[in-house]
Amino acid sequence: MAETEKPVGVAVLGLGNVGTEVVRIMEDSAEDLAARIGAPLQLRGIGVRRVAADRGVPVELLTEDVEALVARDDVDIVVELMGPVEPARRAILAALEHGKSVVTANKALLAQSTGKLATAAEKARVDLYFEAAVAGAIPVIRPLTQSLAGDRVLRVAGIVNGTTNYILSAMSETGASYDDALAEAGALGYAEADPTADVEGYDAAAKAAILASIAFHTRVQADDVYREGITAVSAEDFASAKALGCTIKLLSICERITNADGSEQVSARVYPALVPLTHPLASVNGAFNAVFVEAAAAGQLMFYGQGAGGAPTASAVLGDVVMAARNRVQGGRGPRESKYARLPIAPIGVVPTRYYLSLYVHDKPGVLSKVASEFANRGVSIAEVRQEGLVDEDGQPIGARIVVLTHRATDAALSETVTALKELDVVSSVASVLRMEGTE
Ligand code: NAP
Repeated sequence: MAETEKPVGVAVLGLGNVGTEVVRIMEDSAEDLAARIGAPLQLRGIGVRRVAADRGVPVELLTEDVEALVARDDVDIVVELMGPVEPARRAILAALEHGKSVVTANKALLAQSTGKLATAAEKARVDLYFEAAVAGAIPVIRPLTQSLAGDRVLRVAGIVNGTTNYILSAMSETGASYDDALAEAGALGYAEADPTADVEGYDAAAKAAILASIAFHTRVQADDVYREGITAVSAEDFASAKALGCTIKLLSICERITNADGSEQVSARVYPALVPLTHPLASVNGAFNAVFVEAAAAGQLMFYGQGAGGAPTASAVLGDVVMAARNRVQGGRGPRESKYARLPIAPIGVVPTRYYLSLYVHDKPGVLSKVASEFANRGVSIAEVRQEGLVDEDGQPIGARIVVLTHRATDAALSETVTALKELDVVSSVASVLRMEGTE
C-alpha cells in the first residue's frame, strides 16, 4: 500500500496565486496522489515573506528562512513558486546542491539561467522540472521532451502570453485602440499595473527561449530571442488584417532554419503577426494560450488551454511533483537537459517571412510604381497591394494609404526596403510593418 511507504517530503516556496492552489490540491487529493506515486506526499514547510496565522495554512508550516527549509533532511522535493529571478535562483541552486529535486514555474529565471540550473541538477543527479513555466496548465514541455522524443521538431509557434492575447482579441472584436484595450485588460485583472513584461514581449520571449531549447536540443536564452511587443499595433492594422482575411496575434516562434549549404540554425522570435483566420491559432482568443507544433513525422499538433491562473498552473506543477516523487520512490530520474545539437542562433536578418506594410502616400499618378520599384530593387516580391484614397473633413483628397503584402523575404531585405520607402518624396510615412505567419 502506498501509505505504508516512506513519505516524500515537499517544501513549497511561495504561497501566492499558484502556491496556495498547490498546497490545496496536495491536501484535497492526498490519497490519489499517494496512490499514483506509491508513497504519500508530506508537506514539510512553506517559504513566505510574511509569516502569519491568517494565511489559511497551519502557521507552524510557514517560514521566512527559505535557505534553511530547502536544506532540511526530510525534504525531497522543492517546489519554487516565489516569482522573481532572485531569490528564486539562490533557493533553487541551494536545493539542488542539497540533493533535492526541484519543480519550478519561474520562466524568467529558466530563460536566463538554464545552464547553471541544469548543470547543478546534473551534478546532484536529481530532477529539474518546469512544465508550468510555459503556457500554464497546457502540457507542452513533456510532449516536446518525451512524446516527440523520437521525432524531429521543425517549428513551434505559440500564443503563450494571456495578457497580450486578451488585448489583441479585444482590439479585433471591438475595433478598440491599443490604449483602450489595455485599460480594459487592467480593469479586469488581465494586465498588471506595470504591463511592460507582457506588452513588450519579454514574458513571451522567456517562454520562446525555453521552447526553442527543448525543441531543438540547443541552449537558447532570453537574450537570443528577437523581440517586438504589441504597443504599436493599431486599430487600422486590425481593419487591414480583417480585409486580408487575417487577425493579429503575438506569436512566440521557434524554428529550425536550413541554410543553402544544408547547415541548420535555430530562430527564436516574438512579434505581433498577421495570422490567417483559417489557421488554428487565429481562433485562440481572450486570455487562452495555445502552442502549435510541426514535426517531421507527427505533422501538425496543437495544444490549447488556460495559460495562467492559480489552479491551472498548479495542475502543471503537481504533474511535475508526481513525476519527481515517483522517481524518488522507484529510483531513477526523468529526462535531463538535452543540448547535443548545439545549433547556432539565426540572426533575425536571415529569417524569411511574409510582410504586411501600411504606408501613407501623396495621391499622385506614379506613386504606386515608385513604391513598387523600391520593393523590386531589393528582391522583395509583392503578393498584393491595396490603395484607398483619404479625404479631410470637407471631403477634399489629402493623400492615400497603401497596404502591401509581400511574399517571403528576409528581414534584412525588408528593413532596407522600409528605409528606402521612408526616403521617397511621395511617401509621408510608413505607418506599420508587421509580419505574416501561418500561410505556408
Ligand atoms: P505571487 O502570487 O506573487 O506569490 C509569490 C509568493 O512568493 C508569495 O507568497 C510571497 O510571499 C513569496 N515570496 C516572494 N518573495 C519571497 C522571498 N524572498 N522569500 C520567501 N517568499 C517569497 O506569485 P504567483 O502568481 O503565485 O507566481 C509564482 C510563480 O509562478 C512565478 O514564477 C510566476 O512567473 C509563475 N507562474 C505564475 C502563473 C500565474 O498564473 N500566476 C502562471 C505561470 C507561471 P508573501 O505571500 O509572504 O508575500
